[in-house]
Amino acid sequence: MTGFAWGAATDVGRVRPSNEDAFVATPGLFAVADGMGGHRGGSVASRLALETLRERFGSDDGPRTTERLVRAVEEANEALVARAEEDPDLRGMGTTLTAMALVVEQDREVLGVVNVGDSRLYLLKDGELEQITEDHSLVATLERQGRITRAEAAVHPQRNILTRALGIDAKVMVDSWEILPIVGDRYLLCSDGLFNEVADGRIEATLRKLADPSEAAHELVRLANEAGGHDNVTCVVVDVVADGEGGRTTSAREGQDGRSGPAPPAEPVAGPGAAPRPTHPPGPVAGPVRATARLRNRFTWRTAAFVLALATIGAVAVGSITWAGTRTYYVGIDGDRVAIFRGQPGGVLWIEPSLAEVTDLRADQLPASVVIDLEAGKTEGSLDDARAYVENLRRTLPAPTARSSAPPVVVPGPATSTPSTTPTTSTTPAPADAGSPGAD
Ligand code: MG
Repeated sequence: MTGFAWGAATDVGRVRPSNEDAFVATPGLFAVADGMGGHRGGSVASRLALETLRERFGSDDGPRTTERLVRAVEEANEALVARAEEDPDLRGMGTTLTAMALVVEQDREVLGVVNVGDSRLYLLKDGELEQITEDHSLVATLERQGRITRAEAAVHPQRNILTRALGIDAKVMVDSWEILPIVGDRYLLCSDGLFNEVADGRIEATLRKLADPSEAAHELVRLANEAGGHDNVTCVVVDVVADGEGGRTTSAREGQDGRSGPAPPAEPVAGPGAAPRPTHPPGPVAGPVRATARLRNRFTWRTAAFVLALATIGAVAVGSITWAGTRTYYVGIDGDRVAIFRGQPGGVLWIEPSLAEVTDLRADQLPASVVIDLEAGKTEGSLDDARAYVENLRRTLPAPTARSSAPPVVVPGPATSTPSTTPTTSTTPAPADAGSPGAD
């Protein structure tokens, strides 16, 4: 038979005005929630989510299964959405939720794990720390895609942007796992205030060093504050112990700010019998994710703000490149004629230069050095400057050829620009999307 011994600590940290984290440490149910939403929304969200979880999962109605745990999280989500609809002050609130509970699956007691957001469950097994849950965050997505490393993700400026949370949408997708409880295994549930401040290696070393789970939880919180305490931090350390080691059960002490989850029970939870060590590392059962609702592309308010910022940056970038790619003109060679192009020689990214005017000046009338320059493109700030440059070229030529009697050459194109008044050049209307040359 096995049981649990646990300890928990939470703290406001050194920067935030209030603690929006919450936790549960009760027989057979351990959870951490990290609220968000500003004003009072964050703390309401995390506490309401955990109250609902305890109420729905902890009731005596039917067997405790992983599916029931998932359903309790869904009901917590529904409770948040309903509360936000009732109270305009709470609109936009949300919370992460990571929970581990003793459940019965196929007549066997196992640990059911659920997660939404970027709070985490770690397992310390044989002295090695492993992250069980998968973060629903922007940086975790980038890391899974191989676009950034775990080390880069750990310090990424957008690492607090979530891609999934409770309270945002009427439906939420809940990840779940089932793990065999093995005596000697130690679990850590924590909010991002821990792992954003303390490296995994140091978390591992602390969990290995301090046998008492309560001491370990408080030491981890202390380390987070020592590293800066930029966020609320919450740690729940749960040991799987042999039944009868109830004396190891420790109380969940409150953090320095006096805010915490509910008081723990006096007795450890009765656990399952000694189960064989799993032949595979704990992980998803029957697939990595138990999808209880179709994942919708709804984001948290933090994600929405980030997406808006990205869109703005993108629009500015596109506008800048388009402007840079079309604002200037250059004199070059088109066939055997000197011509004026709108844009930059060679183009700028996707902005190709466009032919603006073909003059009656032939390249073979010009010195070779000038032709070389023109083949590379002689950039001018405006159409008038480009025309003036052509006129200067013309003045360098012998008088008989300075003014050609050849008719203007007109390049077909959209009729959007004003005709040139320069008698020595023909006019090609600029492309419609490039605007009027006069705009320069
Ligand atoms: Mg946090």
